[in-house]
Parts: sequence; structure tokens; C-alpha cells
Amino acid sequence: MAKKDPKELSVEDKLSALYKLQTALSAIDEKRALRGELPLEVQDLEDEIEGLTTRFSKIESDIEDFRSAIAQKRNEIETAQASVERYKSQLDEVRNNREYDTLSKEIEFQTLEIQLCNKKIKEATVKVAERQEDLAKTKENITERQKDLDHKREELAEIMQETREEEDRLKAEVKDLETKIEPRLLDSFKRIRKGARNGLGLVYVQRDACGGCFNKIPPQRQLDIKMHKKIIVCEYCGRILIDPELAGVKPEKVEEKKPKRKRTTRRTKMADEKEEASNEE
Ligand SMILES: [Zn+2]
Repeated sequence: MAKKDPKELSVEDKLSALYKLQTALSAIDEKRALRGELPLEVQDLEDEIEGLTTRFSKIESDIEDFRSAIAQKRNEIETAQASVERYKSQLDEVRNNREYDTLSKEIEFQTLEIQLCNKKIKEATVKVAERQEDLAKTKENITERQKDLDHKREELAEIMQETREEEDRLKAEVKDLETKIEPRLLDSFKRIRKGARNGLGLVYVQRDACGGCFNKIPPQRQLDIKMHKKIIVCEYCGRILIDPELAGVKPEKVEEKKPKRKRTTRRTKMADEKEEASNEE
């Protein structure tokens, strides 16, 4: 039936294709669960490192700015000092008080300039030291996070290595199955699955109850399910219901007896103990 138009499929074929799809999707979910939060953790660490790296470059360029400001101020000091020297030598050749006053004022002004520059250099030097501390801390952070990231990537790669082949096979199977199911049915199945907590959009009947939400299914509805003539959904959770036989699951009679037997033995034991107790009295 591989090349049949999905619309030509009988309800039974549709249901068993859906069941196969559900089985493959559940197996993929299981593999994803195995990876757990790891992919997200890796992503978070990558983002964090990127942020820290940006911060690192910003601090570096800040330091660069402060350093060039310091260099500029040093140049200004040199120029001012040269001026002071020149004015001082001119002082020896002054011809009047007015010239003397002008030169003295210039010297005073240049000396103040030098002091101001020295103050700016001191401030910038403090800033450079602060930023360098920041830089070292940021670098330490990056190294630490990088170690975490390497570790988590390795862990993830290991899990992926183990599951990739199987997952690729399952994904191909899903793709193939999806072409066999009519789009409208596939869409509603996907919608149900998305809304279901355990990712089950289709379940088989277990002990007269829905295998998804475990609410009892009325006998008439169970009969309808067994007929495979209509697509029937659980009236409580909306999951598509099929009978175990269609799912290739053996009737659960054997399974059902086991816990009962256990309960009986337990009950017998308790009864025995009670009897013993009453005998001792
Ligand atoms: Zn249900």
C-alpha cells in the first residue's frame, strides 16, 4: 500500500499508520529526553561567553583610550615645560616691568597646565588599573565558562553519537509515514499530540480505559473502537483511541491477572497473620 493515495486508505490502515507514527515520534521524544537540558545549557553558555567576549573587548578599548589620553597629556606637559624653560630664559633679557609681568603670568599659566595634566594622568592611571582588574576577572570568567562549555559539548556529543543513527532512522520513518496519512487527519493528530503532556496523540485502550488519561470508556464506545470503522477520540482528553490488537499489543488479560494474584497472596498472608494473631490470643 506504499503508493496508495492517503485518501484511499481504510480507517483501519489510517489508524495503524498513525499508531506507527506515534511510536516513532515517542521514540524520538525519548532520545530528546535523554539529551535533556544539555542542548539548552550549551546554547546558554555559548551566549554567555559571547557576551563576556564583547565585554572583554570593550574593556580593552577603554584601556586603550585611557592610555592614549595619558600619552597626549604627557606631550602637553613636555610642550608646557619647554615653554616654561623658554620664558624663564627670556626673563633674563626683559627690558621693563610689563614684559616681566607678562612672562611671569605665562610661566604661572604653563605651570598650572602641567599640574592639571599630571592630575588627569593620575586619574587615568587609576582607571587603567581598575579596568585591568576587570579585564583579568572577565578573562577568568571566560576561561571558566569555556571549560564548562567544552565539558557539556563533549557530554552532548557522546549522547548524540549514541542516538544519532537511530534518531535519523526514526526521523526518516516519520517523514515517510506522514506522507501516507491524509493532511487533515495528520494535522489534528499533531494538534492533539502537542496539547498532550506526554506527547501521545494516539493511545490504545488499556483495561477498558483511555491509555492516555485513564478514564473509563463506555462499552458501546469500546465496541466502536474495535470495529476500526471510525476514528474515535477519548471524550475526556481528546486523544485518538485504537484497540490494542491494532497496535500489535496482546490483550492484557495476562498482565491484568498478575497484580490481582499478588493482591490475593498478600491478602491471604494478612489473613494468615490475623489468624495466627487470634490463635495466639
Ligand atoms: Zn483520554
